[in-house]
Amino acid sequence: KPVIIIVVGMAGSGKTTFLHRLVCHTQSSNIRGYVLNLDPAVMTLPFGANIDIRDTVRYKEVMKEYNLGPNGGILTSLNLFSTKFDEVISVVEKRADQLDYVLVDTPGQIEIFTWSASGAIITEAFASTFPTIIAYVVDTPRSANPVTFMSNMLYACSILYKTRLPLVLVFNKVDVAKHEFALEWMEDFEAFQTALDTDTSYTSTLTRSLSLVLDEFYKNLRSVGVSAVSGAGMDAFFNAIEASAKEYMENYKADLDKRR
Ligand code: GDP
Ligand code: MG
Repeated sequence: KPVIIIVVGMAGSGKTTFLHRLVCHTQSSNIRGYVLNLDPAVMTLPFGANIDIRDTVRYKEVMKEYNLGPNGGILTSLNLFSTKFDEVISVVEKRADQLDYVLVDTPGQIEIFTWSASGAIITEAFASTFPTIIAYVVDTPRSANPVTFMSNMLYACSILYKTRLPLVLVFNKVDVAKHEFALEWMEDFEAFQTALDTDTSYTSTLTRSLSLVLDEFYKNLRSVGVSAVSGAGMDAFFNAIEASAKEYMENYKADLDKRR
């Protein structure tokens, strides 16, 4: 059975570029990948998608027809597409023997996928049929600010608890800024507190309390540093995916069956 990798992350974190990198990597390593684009608003894709939402729904026309702005148009397009998602699952199931991974790109704005009914339907549909992993892409240079870092981690945390699927933190753009500071903050609570102290613009005790919550969250995930541009970190990423897929089979699968 293929492992499904759903790529999510803040707008501009590099999801699409990362997916392109994954496609290049799988092709050059004889890994069999199947690519799904769920962003109806993307102008040009750097990779070839096997299934592309844009072939089914035209987001500009959806905007006009329902009198919506860009975000409403994207959300409604995703809703329309999700009503036919069982067909996507059957297509993947038919090819299951010939596939190692299904790579899924999601809309630029994170909440359109992670906080919508259709995003939940799509994630559920995958996760009930195949081992499914969330790859949460982080813009590493932008997260060097401790408060930005914490907001990003809280978002990832909420996705972990909402989907109950294994989550891999993908620190992207390490060609610009290395992600070691993030690993240090995740491993050493004191180090993060010290970093917060240097940020005099933000002295809320809430931030400090929240970082205690995150401490627990960090224990439940894997993190890797990558560069979608240079290709660094691909092996580490796939190792984390393999370990997460195993975890899915051991914990999440049983949990899903129980809940059903
Ligand atoms: P998305 O909105 O999450 O899909 O982000 P995109 O893939 O469109 O990337 C947003 C911007 O970040 C683009 O200008 C990319 O060229 C840039 N970018 C993505 N990955 C990397 C990376 O690994 N290193 C650097 N330096 N830039 C990157
Ligand atoms: Mg994108």
